[in-house]
Amino acid sequence: MSCAGKVLYCDCAYSKVLPTQVKNEVRARLEASGREVEVVADLCEKFGRKDPSLADHASDPDLTIVACYPRAVRWLFHGSGTPLDPKVQVHNMREDSAAQIAEALQLPELDGAPEPSGLPSKPAGWMPWFPVIDYDRCTNCMQCLSFCLFDVYGTDSEGKIQVQNEDNCKTSCPACSRVCPDVAILFPKYAKGPINGAEVKAEDIQKESMKVDISSLLGGDIYASLRDRSTAARKRFSTERDESKALLERKRCLKELKEALDIPDEVLMTLPSAGEIEERTRRAREKAVRRRAISQTVADQETAMPAPSTEEWDI
Ligand code: SF4
Ligand code: SF4
Repeated sequence: MSCAGKVLYCDCAYSKVLPTQVKNEVRARLEASGREVEVVADLCEKFGRKDPSLADHASDPDLTIVACYPRAVRWLFHGSGTPLDPKVQVHNMREDSAAQIAEALQLPELDGAPEPSGLPSKPAGWMPWFPVIDYDRCTNCMQCLSFCLFDVYGTDSEGKIQVQNEDNCKTSCPACSRVCPDVAILFPKYAKGPINGAEVKAEDIQKESMKVDISSLLGGDIYASLRDRSTAARKRFSTERDESKALLERKRCLKELKEALDIPDEVLMTLPSAGEIEERTRRAREKAVRRRAISQTVADQETAMPAPSTEEWDI
């Protein structure tokens, strides 16, 4: 384990997912260690804003990052176009104790209670909340792009899925991670794993992808789909004639969906039907194939083009 080189410490200032005691002790011991330490208020915010300093950090093999789950941090860097050098160590304040991190980094003991210095200010106005794609798991199926009606996703020139409009994401909504059949979408500030970046276990794959099976749960009408989830509910609906009771039942269905999936109201109201998702997925795939074909044609033309002669270069 490298104990030289710079340390990038993230305080996760926009959320409470890192235990305060762990943050304070680790930061105070880092500051007492004499190592070069850069304290940032919130790395997610820097990624969301495409901070140019991230590229320098990413290419430094001696860097140590102290933040949250290594899977979340690595794919955050990747998503911002600056993949992290594989030698960079990432320590996780969500799971590890201050003592474990201090031991790994050979940090000194403190004489008294931790008293870390002041933090950099956090910009107001935007909660850094957006999806991060784990490309080791992603199969480019386009379900997320088709499901999200806020244009958070797009494709690159190769037709590969990307998070393109982080600002459009609805704060605290993890809905698209639930439709991903491969548990490839993370929200680093989400409360629970594996969506928060914790390692994906075999049972997670079934559990997460079962939470929103878009074809069966949404089924073109979320109320009807929820209604059909139990025979009793179906019976109640088929005999229901009272409009106000039906309205109450709809509200109950929405509440159930909201609680089961942590989906905010404004997103619930925009859920597309299964047919819409299928159609959008088909269009997205066609577009991706066209983009791939165009970039292949350009690459072929460049390969076919003869190299300039020394006369042409005027050498
Ligand atoms: S979620 Fe992780 S990377 Fe993002 S701000 Fe919090 S600790 Fe930093
Ligand atoms: S739904 Fe998951 S696997 Fe499919 S493109 Fe999106 S991130 Fe990749």
